[in-house]
Amino acid sequence: MDMEVEEAGMAEPTLDDLESLPRGGFRCRLCHVTVANKPSLDDHLRGKKHQRLESLRSIRQDQELRSVFVSGFPKGTPASELSDYFEAYGEVVNVVMDKDKGVYAIVELQDREVLEKVLAQPQHSLGGQKLRVKPREKKDFKYTPPRKQGSAKREQLSPEKLAQELCQADDVDAQMTRMVQLFEFSEGERRLRDLLVTLFQEVFLEFFPGSAILPFGSSVNGFDVSGCDLDLFLELEKTKKFQASAKSAPGPPAEDEPDSHSEDSILSDIDLASATVPEVLELVATVLRKCVPGVHHVQVVPNARRPVVKFCHKDSGLRGDISIDNKLALRNTRFLQLCTEIDERVRPLVYVVRHWAKQQALAGNPFGGGPLLNNYALTLLVLFFLQTRSPPVLPTVARLKELSEDEEQTVVEGWDCSFPKDSTQLEPSGNKENLCALLADFFRIFGDYDFPGCLISLQEGQPLPLPSVLQSEVGSKLKLGPFNLQDPFELSHNVAANVNEKTALRFQRCCQAASKYCRSLQYQRKSSKGKIWGLVRLFQPGTAEAEVPVAAEFVINLPLTLAVLPAETHELLCQARDFQLRCFQKVCAGIAFILQDVLKCSCLEAQQGSEEERQAVPEGKQGEQQTEAKAGPLSAGCKRSLDEEEADSSSPSSKRPRTDTLVPEGESMTWDCATWHKVWLGRRRVRRQLRGPQPDQQQAAGSLELEAKVSEAISQQEGGGKPADPLFHFSVCARVRADAFVKQDMRISLCFEPAPEQAAAFQEFFHFLQGFLPRAVEQHLAREA
Ligand code: ATP
Ligand code: MG
Repeated sequence: MDMEVEEAGMAEPTLDDLESLPRGGFRCRLCHVTVANKPSLDDHLRGKKHQRLESLRSIRQDQELRSVFVSGFPKGTPASELSDYFEAYGEVVNVVMDKDKGVYAIVELQDREVLEKVLAQPQHSLGGQKLRVKPREKKDFKYTPPRKQGSAKREQLSPEKLAQELCQADDVDAQMTRMVQLFEFSEGERRLRDLLVTLFQEVFLEFFPGSAILPFGSSVNGFDVSGCDLDLFLELEKTKKFQASAKSAPGPPAEDEPDSHSEDSILSDIDLASATVPEVLELVATVLRKCVPGVHHVQVVPNARRPVVKFCHKDSGLRGDISIDNKLALRNTRFLQLCTEIDERVRPLVYVVRHWAKQQALAGNPFGGGPLLNNYALTLLVLFFLQTRSPPVLPTVARLKELSEDEEQTVVEGWDCSFPKDSTQLEPSGNKENLCALLADFFRIFGDYDFPGCLISLQEGQPLPLPSVLQSEVGSKLKLGPFNLQDPFELSHNVAANVNEKTALRFQRCCQAASKYCRSLQYQRKSSKGKIWGLVRLFQPGTAEAEVPVAAEFVINLPLTLAVLPAETHELLCQARDFQLRCFQKVCAGIAFILQDVLKCSCLEAQQGSEEERQAVPEGKQGEQQTEAKAGPLSAGCKRSLDEEEADSSSPSSKRPRTDTLVPEGESMTWDCATWHKVWLGRRRVRRQLRGPQPDQQQAAGSLELEAKVSEAISQQEGGGKPADPLFHFSVCARVRADAFVKQDMRISLCFEPAPEQAAAFQEFFHFLQGFLPRAVEQHLAREA
């Protein structure tokens, strides 16, 4: 340990250095470091960087107290002359001249005593000119990370500077185009990246004959942001071929073939055709470490969805990835680029939405991995939005395929990725909406979107209902969740599969808040009084956090495929009311089963007659008595109190909702429910624990028995049994929708109403239900059938 750090070990962190962030994070103002939680904060505070900066700060503060600010000397006076002059009062430790113009100097003296002597002198003069000598201003210690030599990165754009720049624009459209100019690469940065790619190319060609290094991602897809990572693809197809042919025909290589089997070729250590991806990446990492000048922090990440080698370029500070099996990314990069060429509104919209999402902590995954949207997914969402305008701003992917010529047909990893090469072949969009209105509509639409209930398809340019998706071949492979966004080409890939319920919910809430703001004059018009306006307020973090949508509508649409019901001639029976009612009845039984048996909620049919009256009705006649309870405040339609229900628990069958024997009058059914445990939290982890390391086939993902056990385990963790009070009450009303029986689908809407004042508590559970309930009900019905 060096002296500086040892000394620093005694320094105390000051509270002013620390800032608490929402969601348990912290920011160390001294080091400009953000950490996710308290243990990481403690690590940081004990770490080298923080300790060193603390020490540096105390040294600087001490220096400040012993230094004077001197000006008034003749231009060109050397530091030594100033030093000599002040030596008359005591020892001078250092003189720092103003580098720029040489008009002032900081003179550091031996100690406070000398300083006081200097300041006590009423007048100082040097070379016949009067000197001004004063104590140094007390400045806050500010750490500026050392500027990387040769860095072509733009100066970090501070939020204040951004706000200032944007407020100067004339209208929101001008603000949006300005965003692009402020964030995109400078000429220097683009050149630097090109040079780096060339350097990599040269080195890799030496070791992997015939290989190519191809940049993809935001460096080249039209959505470049200064400082973004450098994504590289190492194409080894030709190298593999060379190696194979060299093996089958030993002897010197043909003239046009590189020598891939000589003694010193790295390829003599590996057979590319049979080596695993991590093995090849290890080799790539070795080449990077040993042979590419200026590259450090090389690390293989073998377990990512697309394994990569990470690296950092020392001089520029650029970070990057090299992958070897990511050809689809090359193609989707070109697709994004094509979209920016098709319409000039694409870039400003994407830049603004990305920056907004980053400010609201919805995108970016700052702590690596994580449940946020990534920039690729967010960009696809904007492109999808532009496909759905009327008339569309962008064509659908299917339409682009139709427009592509024979020679443009491209299939990658079995997926059709054909689209025209040249955007000028395409007709410009007839859509004339301006950026300001498009952005407002983006927020309006996604503030009220059924993310868990559909699959957003750029291929089709429309949301696809989940039941029909699940029936399709790709659907069964899609990892569905609370946010379903289909890759435009790799159709079985949900690019937002990592997004959790909480983020999906926050995304929606933030869109709602942004949409509300976009309706205000503050958004639409430049302030004449110099106040912030337009995009600036949109970028302030956390604006949606405080707002709980009390009046939000809690509706889940249950689109069900009739195929899950008994196999009868659906087309014919769809017309018959009897059949429709039977279907509805079965679905209602399913809903009650999931809420009560799988999610351990209390769930009771709401009805107007008393429990005694209901009990007195002969079996089979109960349906006639059943009336729809108004989905009003909780328990309005429920005569049994929860206490009574508790008391009944000895005879569980008596409190089971009898949806299986009742035909609802009209086509709606209401239950009064209560939730006792946070069964929506940590399900994935509990599920993994219950399944054990080797999941048995019968307990495959999604089995309802397993889901019931998961809920049970969560309630046990929370102390088991029913606490004195439920977490919240709510009512659910299932209604057959007007367009209920369309072709093979049946649509039922579930309207949830939390008890007054409990909307905020209910929100998280509801969001979980949005993803869970439709699938669980469908599974239950399939099993019953
Ligand atoms: P930035 O680096 O600025 O966040 P990016 O577009 O480069 O933006 P990366 O996460 O670096 O995003 O990904 C690089 C590229 O890899 C993307 O542009 C896209 O082509 C592809 N990609 C990233 N994530 C996915 C994904 N989930 N599914 C499919 N392709 C993806
Ligand atoms: Mg990238």
